[in-house]
Amino acid sequence: MNDRTHSLIDKLPKAELHLHIEGTLEPEMMLALAKRNNVSLPYDSVEEIRAAYEFDGLQDFLDLYYAGMSVLIEARDFHDLTWAYLEKVAEQGVTHVEIFFDPQGHTDRGVAFETVLGGIVSALEQGQTELGITSRLIMCFLRHLPEEQAFDALHSACRHKDHIHAVGLDSGEAGNPPANFARVYEAARREGFIAVAHAGEEGPAEYVSDALDILKVSRVDHGNHALDDPALVARLVREKTPLTMCPLSNLRLKGIASMAEQPVKRAMDAGLLVTVNSDDPSYFGGYINDNYEAVTDALGLSTDEVVTLAKNSFAASFLPDAEKQAGIDAVERHAETFIRNAD
Ligand SMILES: [Zn+2]
Repeated sequence: MNDRTHSLIDKLPKAELHLHIEGTLEPEMMLALAKRNNVSLPYDSVEEIRAAYEFDGLQDFLDLYYAGMSVLIEARDFHDLTWAYLEKVAEQGVTHVEIFFDPQGHTDRGVAFETVLGGIVSALEQGQTELGITSRLIMCFLRHLPEEQAFDALHSACRHKDHIHAVGLDSGEAGNPPANFARVYEAARREGFIAVAHAGEEGPAEYVSDALDILKVSRVDHGNHALDDPALVARLVREKTPLTMCPLSNLRLKGIASMAEQPVKRAMDAGLLVTVNSDDPSYFGGYINDNYEAVTDALGLSTDEVVTLAKNSFAASFLPDAEKQAGIDAVERHAETFIRNAD
């Protein structure tokens, strides 16, 4: 363990770009909200819920993820969930977040789109005023459901363009290729939404190419398997397309056998604009700094590489250029002060 680099990571300014707000539901809050809303869960204790977190893969995780969502009913539940996340990452140096939400996971069980959005947005606004954290919201389509249902979500999002910046694609990747969502992405882009998509998490490099060519994404979420295809890597470097990697998620979902296999360093060495994020931190055993520390320890990242990752997080964000640069400058200032004080 590298204590010095860990203390650099601790308060290093950073942006988180790959975070599912529903994936921040901690067992304690799951139980508290179940009680508040009279929802019965198949678990009686925090320990039982944590025991269920031993996943065999993405689908196994998703089953628990969707069960957890059942306790989220009122706008204040979504507010409390989002606020708890913001308070936590404010302690970890995070100054900007671009978070996903899954409206179909809620509207399908009778919770109104506006209830979900209202709760999340009120917490994000509070995060800006009280914690100084800026934010963007990305609405994800669930790729295991038909494209027609994604269109319903898009129609709702079109009423709230002031609060929703981009669209994304998540849930089980295997067998659900980007091409299945070509029409809804085309419609979303026409409506002015930026496009991102999960690709190359468990799916092949081809899914990453398809996300670029067919969905016309500006950023690839995960993208691990892009590294299997040298021509694709060269293209991502040339086009400066960011990848939002999630190390602890890869480990917990068994995409990698050990953290030593996590490709973030290989991606950096190849010249890719790669970032480190927590994905679903409650379920995968750590928030953003835990992810930075895990790759630092397993891959032997230098302080310069850690600083690069933090700078990348702003460079890869959807902030306007001046705010991106302000974030990058803040990282540099923090790193310089840290190194000066350590000498
Ligand atoms: Zn994700």
